[in-house]
Amino acid sequence: MVSIEQLSLMINQHLGLLTCTDDAPNCMKWKIFESPLGGRGLVATEDIKTGEVLFIDHPLVYGPRSGTIIQRGCTVCKNIDSDTFYKCSKCALLLCSEQCQNSGIHLSDCSVISCWPNKVSIEDVDDTVLSRALTAIRALLLNEDQKNLLTSLQAHILHQHGSEIRALKEYFDIFEQDEEFMTLVTCILDANAFQMATPYGKKEMNLRGLYPVSSLMNHNCVSNTRYSFNSESQMTVRAVKPISAGTELFTCYSGMLWGTPARRLHLYKTKHFLCVCERCSDPTERGTLLAALKCFSTECSGSLLPIEPLKSNSAWRCLDCGLRVPFLNITTIQNALGSLMGCLNFDNIYELEKFFLNRITKYIPKTNQIVVDLQCRLIWEFGESEGLRWEGE
Ligand SMILES: [Zn+2]
Ligand SMILES: [Zn+2]
Ligand SMILES: [Zn+2]
Ligand SMILES: [Zn+2]
Repeated sequence: MVSIEQLSLMINQHLGLLTCTDDAPNCMKWKIFESPLGGRGLVATEDIKTGEVLFIDHPLVYGPRSGTIIQRGCTVCKNIDSDTFYKCSKCALLLCSEQCQNSGIHLSDCSVISCWPNKVSIEDVDDTVLSRALTAIRALLLNEDQKNLLTSLQAHILHQHGSEIRALKEYFDIFEQDEEFMTLVTCILDANAFQMATPYGKKEMNLRGLYPVSSLMNHNCVSNTRYSFNSESQMTVRAVKPISAGTELFTCYSGMLWGTPARRLHLYKTKHFLCVCERCSDPTERGTLLAALKCFSTECSGSLLPIEPLKSNSAWRCLDCGLRVPFLNITTIQNALGSLMGCLNFDNIYELEKFFLNRITKYIPKTNQIVVDLQCRLIWEFGESEGLRWEGE
């Protein structure tokens, strides 16, 4: 493993920073350190004010997600809504236009893939298999310095990772060295990639990007930073509260507005750890009651919450009347709510509003994450509806 000093140099180079000297004003107010949580992290070296930009990161590699359920789309412009999709006759990647085919992005992608002898004719290559592996394929195009930075990041070495590379071997005779490197990249992506933002309302493929500086931040469900993307896919990371020198910088790998059971399950599935932070340990999540369900007692209007939130099968209890509900009854309700939300489809914003006001709030408390999520959706949709459109950004 590379030392913190070596990694710091690579990170500075990635960010385009000079070594910190008296006349280098863009010196950062943080450094990489050995985190008390284990592994590396970022720590503030000076006091930082709310809203201050900590750094602007850019992706080493980015591309489609690797899940087996994947949206088919143009591998250059990300468009998923076209009736002109076709496969490149040299590499089989999906494209939407000649313009995308002649773009620098495609020419690079194509140059790697077309080097591998194909085992079947190009028309018979499954383009979704290529798409799933594309982010790892793109890592082959990095220069030596970039590859060194990439491979110095943490990797989750698990057998299930790399399945997209194994699937690719059905169609191409991949060079052994390329296969080994891409398999390692899938393990690094699993541990570090961030989901990139899609402009609201645009029909685009969901992409993930490897932002090396951001990926060094450890997780906390009450993070002290937040990030946003610009149109160039750069990630700006800012402080959301005053951070004093010596404090570790945290990001949140999960939905900030999700309740503890949903957040912990998501973190476990995607990042393979069970969070035990202060917020996860507090049944009320600092009074936000995001996970709360309505009390089962007809005479009570209280909220049910887990008694021991760090135990995945904890019984729940009403905050008002103390009624205790076994875990199994809670999961039944949660599953029913999950399937209800999964099949919701509204023709217009007014139907969504009606559902929100008249139905859902009868069954779950107003603090529940589903209600909060619907509120956010309503706000967004209203701003996008005919006659109610927001102007400008
Ligand atoms: Zn395109
Ligand atoms: Zn091609
Ligand atoms: Zn947590
Ligand atoms: Zn009650």
